[in-house]
Amino acid sequence: MKAVYMFSEGNKDMKDTLGGKGANLAEMTNLGLPIPQGFTITCRICNQYTKEGKMPDEVLTQIDESLTKLEEITGKKFGSTENPLLLSIRSGAPVSMPGMMDTVLNLGLNDAAAAGMIAKTGNERFVYDSYRRFIQMFADVALGVPHSEFEDALEKKRHDAGVNLDSELNAEQMKSLVEDYKNIVKNSGVEWPEDAKVQLLLSVEAVFKSWNLKRAQTYRDAHGIPHDLGTAVNVQAMVFGNTGENSGTGVTFSRNPSTGENKIYGEYLMNAQGEDVVAGIRTPHPISDMETALPEIYKQFKEIVEKTEKHYRDMQDMEFTIEDGKLYFLQTRTGKRTGAAAVRTAVEMVHENLITKEEAIMRVDPEALNQLLHKRLDLSKGAMDMTSGLPASPGAATGEVVFTANEAQRLKEEESKKVILVSSETTPEDIHGMIAAQGILTSRGGMTSHAAVVARGMGTPCVCGCESIKIGEKEFRVGDVVVREGDWITLDGTTGKVYKGQIPTIDPEMTGEFKEFMSWADEIRTLGVWTNADNPEDAQKARNFGAEGIGLCRTEHMFMGDERLPRVQEMIMSETEDARREALKKLLPFQRDDFYGIFKAMDGLPVTIRLLDPPLHEFLPDHKELLVEVTELRVRNDNPTLLKEKEELLEKVESLIESNPMLGWRGVRLGIVYPEISEMQIRAIFEAAQMAIKDGVKVIPHIMIPLVSLVGELAKMKEMTHEIAKEMGVDFKYEVGTMIELPRGCVTADEIAEHAEFFSFGTNDLTQTTFGFSRDDVEGKFFTPYMDRGVLLENPFVNLDQKGVGRMIEIAIEYGRRTNPNLGIGLCGEQGGDPKSIDFLQPLVDYVSCSPYRVPIARLGAAQSAIKAKKK
Ligand code: PEP
Ligand code: MG
Repeated sequence: MKAVYMFSEGNKDMKDTLGGKGANLAEMTNLGLPIPQGFTITCRICNQYTKEGKMPDEVLTQIDESLTKLEEITGKKFGSTENPLLLSIRSGAPVSMPGMMDTVLNLGLNDAAAAGMIAKTGNERFVYDSYRRFIQMFADVALGVPHSEFEDALEKKRHDAGVNLDSELNAEQMKSLVEDYKNIVKNSGVEWPEDAKVQLLLSVEAVFKSWNLKRAQTYRDAHGIPHDLGTAVNVQAMVFGNTGENSGTGVTFSRNPSTGENKIYGEYLMNAQGEDVVAGIRTPHPISDMETALPEIYKQFKEIVEKTEKHYRDMQDMEFTIEDGKLYFLQTRTGKRTGAAAVRTAVEMVHENLITKEEAIMRVDPEALNQLLHKRLDLSKGAMDMTSGLPASPGAATGEVVFTANEAQRLKEEESKKVILVSSETTPEDIHGMIAAQGILTSRGGMTSHAAVVARGMGTPCVCGCESIKIGEKEFRVGDVVVREGDWITLDGTTGKVYKGQIPTIDPEMTGEFKEFMSWADEIRTLGVWTNADNPEDAQKARNFGAEGIGLCRTEHMFMGDERLPRVQEMIMSETEDARREALKKLLPFQRDDFYGIFKAMDGLPVTIRLLDPPLHEFLPDHKELLVEVTELRVRNDNPTLLKEKEELLEKVESLIESNPMLGWRGVRLGIVYPEISEMQIRAIFEAAQMAIKDGVKVIPHIMIPLVSLVGELAKMKEMTHEIAKEMGVDFKYEVGTMIELPRGCVTADEIAEHAEFFSFGTNDLTQTTFGFSRDDVEGKFFTPYMDRGVLLENPFVNLDQKGVGRMIEIAIEYGRRTNPNLGIGLCGEQGGDPKSIDFLQPLVDYVSCSPYRVPIARLGAAQSAIKAKKK
């Protein structure tokens, strides 16, 4: 089987065989570009080598044959002393893994070859410079001699010579550096191979081994790259950017990778090899300087860059070398780019007739839109992160640390301060502080914890489950670092990183291109995108982001706030139905006004309002804190009235304690036991709708019953809704439907659908109950070991578990449509905004509903899913 391909034998579509770099080198060779020639050993051999622990004989023969061909092409001889062919050995996997695997340059040098090269070129400095680079790289990569020992010797040499830069060392100094390097190798006890062929094979094996280095494995895990792809090895004739001032090397992008501007971008260094450009020791020149410094070369350079981009029809990231005034390209690949650049290049390339709209849509990673919708950190001046947690809600935030919601609110309102709320976790009681804060940092809780869900809904940056922070009395610690109340910290909710101090942020820009791009996504997609919003502001924001309705309005969020909470508590404390009704009456106007505002913001679009869902204890003080308070009051014994009040409260709180509140008295179960609560909410919805209609607003209310597992639950609630509607003279159309978020709801969906006009899958609870994983506290505890051990491949609270939860959804839809073919079907769990989950959902449901800031991401994800489905 063919294991080695000359560059002239491959093409760009052979990435799986030749790796990205090998395939592109072949393609560029076919295009007639100036590429130093060479050959590629295939990815398959990497896997074979890993398995067998040695290079197969047949491959060794093919390498020999290819070397002979390469010698013919270059007119040089590998291992010769007079005219040696030197090689570069580089990895290249089917998927780009920048900097993860090893490289060896200038291979084929030894004392004799160095002497021969000096005789031929007369350039002693260049030869010793190449030689020392080779010793360092080869010893590090193939023999395991620590890189740092060479760096130290180099540093010493610069110091002794009184220079700052490697490029300032003269021939004599380079020569003595080579001797120093050889001594380092000798002293480390490894055997140094003089034979070029042995050097080559050891390097190839080292590259294969680097596929399984820890860092490479971690990178693959982080980017979802399969571990069995293997890497190819590219063996390429060296060209030298370090022969003198007429030589150089650089990296270029065919367009600006940060902004997308259609202008060649990049940097180069004269008298250098590739590694010097990235190492940052010397400051490279911007490519624009080349136009004046090297006009002839620049002309050719520009032509080639443009030709390559046209050929690939995408922005290219290219490496080049100038050897004694002659230009070579060493590789090209698709350029990595920011979200802004991705959108701009995609749109401009459509205008340039380079790609189609569908191609443009497929070019942009939906998650990258986050960068366009949220503030970003300006890290141009550098910053070290202190720790990191889960990237729970994207965007950058900087502010002074506070530890309580009240303090956050006070500092914001009274002192106009920017604050970051730091807490072990948040509860609905903290909402005022969360609204006041620029960002939220919690030490516990996962991607669907209260903090995460609420922060995403508000567009507030949030880092959750940051277990390395230890929160104490008005301070937190990360290792030895102490951060006190009032100290500045910065959060990046997009990466999960936490920084000490204040880092400047950059505002999002909604450019014309972005709008145009999104309009193409809307033309293509078939799946509806609705939003989860609980107040008029979020509803408006989501609508501006393109939401086509509200798929989930969590009414419990309207039970919070200074004026409301006491009334909710009064209702809970009531001993009789009459007393409860009295308390509820006072709450109704608040609910009605909120609904009115939401209807107005969503004029003409459906608004799905869910009746109260959480267990009632969430509206009462924390049990432990209350217990402490009561105990203290008893000991002090100076305020009998307050004590009595608190004791009653404590008694109620204790009566509501459940071992598993998320499996307890919540959802529709509240409405069945206390129908007056649901009644108040339904009345408030209808009153708001009637008011809005009077004001000329088109309302489409969908009343949604949560946590239904028994058909009787829904039947009762529906009957009540219709009775209230009749009594109130409701003459507009409204729908009654249910959330499907329990396994029993799924498998009895045929019964349930007879009473429902729509289903909305609550995949947060459905994931929790299908797996039996508590959504509130699993992530920090056993998820990480589960992921590390490969038992769980991804977080099902983020990416829908297709096999289990997905199957539940399929069953529910099949059963539901059997008895009710007109059933509307949506999904409003967190996974609704996840493009990967959307791929699965798009043929199944009518719409997904997600937090406002994810609406554009879901729109793009849905368009990509539609394109993929069409291709299939
Ligand atoms: C769900 O369970 O998926 C859902 C959307 O409801 P909540 O997160 O409010 O329980
Ligand atoms: Mg739920």
